[in-house]
This record gives sequence, C-alpha cells and structure tokens, in this order.
Amino acid sequence: MDFSWTDEQTAFRERLQGIIARALPADWGEKSRYDTSSAYMSEFSRTFCPMLASEGLLIPHWPVELGGGGMDPFHHWILGEEMFYVGDPRSYQYMNVNWVGPAIIQYGTDAQRREHIGRIASGTTIWCQGFSEPSAGSDLAALSTRAERRGDGYVLNGSKIWTSGASLADYCFLLARTGGPGTHGISVFLLPTKMPGIEIRVVPSFMGQYSFHEVFLTDVQVPAEMRLGEENKGWTIVRSVLHNERIGQPRYMLSMRVLEHAMGLLVARGEDTELARARAVQAQAGLEAARYLALGVIDRRAKKLPVDTSTNIARYALVTADRLVADFLCDFLHDDVTADIDPLISVGFRRTGSTGLAAGSAEIQLNLISKHHLQLPAVA
Ligand SMILES: Cc1cc2nc3c(=O)[nH]c(=O)nc-3n(C[C@H](O)[C@H](O)[C@H](O)COP(=O)(O)OP(=O)(O)OC[C@H]3O[C@@H](n4cnc5c(N)ncnc54)[C@H](O)[C@@H]3O)c2cc1C
Repeated sequence: MDFSWTDEQTAFRERLQGIIARALPADWGEKSRYDTSSAYMSEFSRTFCPMLASEGLLIPHWPVELGGGGMDPFHHWILGEEMFYVGDPRSYQYMNVNWVGPAIIQYGTDAQRREHIGRIASGTTIWCQGFSEPSAGSDLAALSTRAERRGDGYVLNGSKIWTSGASLADYCFLLARTGGPGTHGISVFLLPTKMPGIEIRVVPSFMGQYSFHEVFLTDVQVPAEMRLGEENKGWTIVRSVLHNERIGQPRYMLSMRVLEHAMGLLVARGEDTELARARAVQAQAGLEAARYLALGVIDRRAKKLPVDTSTNIARYALVTADRLVADFLCDFLHDDVTADIDPLISVGFRRTGSTGLAAGSAEIQLNLISKHHLQLPAVA
C-alpha cells in the first residue's frame, strides 16, 4: 500500500479546501458550534450540498451515470476528511453520500433509484437512520418494530430510539420485522417521515440540538414499493450499510484539530506541562494510527477486495484514540469542557466521548474482531 497522495488527489483536496473556505461564513465556529444536528447546520446543508453538487463534489465517487464523478474511493475519503475538519457542513447529508445512496443504488428497484438517487445527488434531501430500538441496540437483530403484510402494502407498528436528525429529515431508512425472530425476518423500508401515524419526539441531550429522537410508528400504512430489497432479506443490506457507516466519517480530522487547539490554549496559559505534552502526543499518535488503518480499508475498497475485519479494527483504533482525546480534555481543560463556551473544545469532548457507541459500540467491534479476525471461541 502506497500512502503518498498523487498530485491529482492533492489538487482535489486543495480545490475542496478553497470551496469550503469560500462557502463557510467567517463566524462558522460560533454559528454552527460544529453541531451536525443543529437546525442551523441542517438549514445550511440545504444550500451547501446543492452548491457542492453543482461543483461535482457531493458524490465524486459515485458512477457517472448516476450523477457522480466516477472517481475512486480515495476521493470520497478526501472529501470526508475535509468536511469533517470543519464539523461537516453537509450535516446529516453525509449519510446520504456514504451509505443511504449506495444502498439504494445496490439494492433498489429502478423506480426507487429514480425517486431517491437524483434528490440525493442534487443535495436536496435529508435522511435519518431508524435502526436502534429501546431493546435492540448492540443486539440489533432483536428489533421488534413490525411490518405486517396487508393487501398491497404493510402496516408498521413499533418505535425507534436515538434516531439522529429525525425531526430534520425527509426520509427514514427504517428496519422492521416482516418475518420470524433473528436476522432472517428483517426488511428495510424507505419511509417518508411525514406520514400519518409517525410521531417524532426530540430526546434532549448534551450531544447536540437534534442529535437524538424517539420515533413512534402507529398503524403507518406503506405501499410495498417502499421496501428496499427482498422481504426478510434486509440483514444483507444492514451489513453493507454498517460497513460503510463505520468507516464513513473521518472523525479523527476534527479530533486532531481539537487536540491542536487544546494544546494551543494550554501553551497560551503556561499550563503545557510535561505530562500534558506527553498525553497530547499519545492521543495524536493514536489518531494518526486510526487514520492509517482507515486508509487501509479505503485501499481495500479501491482494489474492490471483499469487506473484512479491517473495518472493525480501524473503528476500534478510532474509538481508542478518541477516548484518549476525551480524557485529555477532561484532565487538562476540565473547566473549558464544563463551561461549554469554546465551540471546538465542546464539540471535541462530545464527539470523542461518543465514538465508542455511535455506529455500534466498541465492545461489539471487539467481539467481531475476536470472532472473525482472531478466530477465538465465543464465550458462553
Ligand atoms: C451520537 C450517537 C448517534 C446515534 N445515532 C443513531 C441513529 O441515527 N440511528 C440509530 O438507529 N441509532 C443511533 N445511535 C444508537 C447506537 O447505534 C447505539 O447506541 C449502539 O448501537 C448501542 O446500543 P445501545 O445504546 O442500546 O446500548 P446497549 O446495546 O444496551 O449496550 C450497552 C453497553 O453494553 C455493551 N454490550 C452490549 N452487548 C454486548 C456484548 N454482546 N458484548 C460486550 N458488550 C456488550 C455495549 O458495548 C455498551 O457498552 C446513536 C448513538 C450515538 C451515541
């Protein structure tokens, strides 16, 4: 694997940086507070993403015939790195680009592609992810939201939790049970969020303005055309989505920026002790390692190699590094973290602290590495 960027990739990154610098207001940090889930960021994304699309920079890695640039996965990764460095002005549209669109392209009917892909490619629609339930987080296959067959369609009943951006979203990528227990009875639905029987409630949290929601589904009637892929075969789609999601956000970019900013504050205050410096370097080394492991996954994608545990390993490395950053902030900038005034310190603490839960918990990554990579026997 060659880790140096080509001239063309470097030029692509510089072009992106220029466009981002021109598009973001001077007081971006104050206005957005780097909160992907804020009403401000979401509204901003509705003009920012169409602008990116018009520049050919929203979905550079998608096929040309679907409005993409036909570029390789490294361009997608560079895009993610530059976006994440500034808190991701695409807001939740990053999910469209990373995994919603690819899932619809791979598993959708022609009609579903016609309906959704154009909108995603033009940056005019927001999706949320309806996976987790009160009793089905890590054990996602235990989900109990039901989709009962009725005539030409389904009737949905159940509830979802922790749904990021649900009240801002136009559509929900929803999992529901259409068959028996376990992974074999699950189907995916492409559900408009504004339908009779859907109630969305914000769950207040320090994570961000619209970071968490509960979504209640009561006798929601949907046509069968809203089902993505075959009935009861949704787990295959889930696996592909989780792979794209786990290595989708280069979260280390913002963490590196936060760390640099935090050290800058300590230096300015004369509080950059030997211990603080050593801990910052330890965290920085962890972030660099996480970056290279993520790039290894992207390299596999570029070579069209099958998905393997390198995704889980890279994700776990990111969790480990982000925990070092979170601990560093708590130990050396405790008052800044609790004051919640400096947007970079605040977002840094929130983001790094939650990496081990979002997109599947750290322990689940370890279980997968233990089973599939180390081939250790399962513990009863
Ligand atoms: C910022 C953020 C955004 C999120 N956004 C969304 C979203 O948009 N849509 C969505 O559907 N979900 C979302 N989630 C939910 C997330 O997917 C779940 O929090 C995660 O899957 C864990 O599930 P849980 O919270 O139910 O915890 P649990 O599954 O109850 O786990 C609790 C603890 O037990 C550990 N544990 C559980 N099972 C095992 C096991 N078998 N072996 C070892 N340890 C275990 C876990 O690692 C964890 O530490 C989000 C979460 C966060 C933090």
